[in-house]
Amino acid sequence: MTDQVPDNCTILSESYPIWDYSGSGFFSPEEWLDCGLESWSSACWRGYVAQYLVENDQLYLTGLGELKPTDELAFQRARSRLPFLSSSGPPESLRVSVRASGTITIGSFSSWLSIPANPDVIALEFREGILVTPLESILPTLGRWHDERKQQQLEAEAVRLQDLERQRQRDEDRAALARSLLLLSKPILALHPNAVEGSWLNGVCPYCNESGSLRVCKGALVLCRTCYFKRW
Ligand SMILES: [Zn+2]
Repeated sequence: MTDQVPDNCTILSESYPIWDYSGSGFFSPEEWLDCGLESWSSACWRGYVAQYLVENDQLYLTGLGELKPTDELAFQRARSRLPFLSSSGPPESLRVSVRASGTITIGSFSSWLSIPANPDVIALEFREGILVTPLESILPTLGRWHDERKQQQLEAEAVRLQDLERQRQRDEDRAALARSLLLLSKPILALHPNAVEGSWLNGVCPYCNESGSLRVCKGALVLCRTCYFKRW
């Protein structure tokens, strides 16, 4: 089974994957719905991905993804209590206060598929939906995570720019090669004024310098069989 896409929690404008829950009142089909949810992907076998937001010390549920209830009637009953529930995904502006009591453990790891052996985590404790963990106690760790993310973004951007530069260089080399092949092909073609596209001539390949049959391609290039099949 593929790992479940993690729930996430946004605090101080940054979103972190949720590593663990304890306590009660957080979203779960068992607690909130009168039915189960069908899996809609191998990476979401639970059938939902919960998104939370902590703002002004209050916990909100801001997303669940598309829900496929196992029992439509039971789901409609749950909707009469929780009208924001929708099988086509929660509305864009979903923001439901959650009166949960317990702990949400968030982590700094960026991918659920590569959780470090000793993950760096923060436990956020809530009482009736109010954050009781003092912000001052978690700010240093959140600050470090923020800096680490920034660093990763900068590194990823540097790699992207390097790739672009390499691609540009490759394109330039190709264009230069095409220009030089055109020049080298000209005198060979001049010797065969009636050569048509796709015909074969005898001569020295301007690309690899092997002599043998050369193919006329693109109306202006001649290449040996090997270079022709390798390059065009
Ligand atoms: Zn060749």
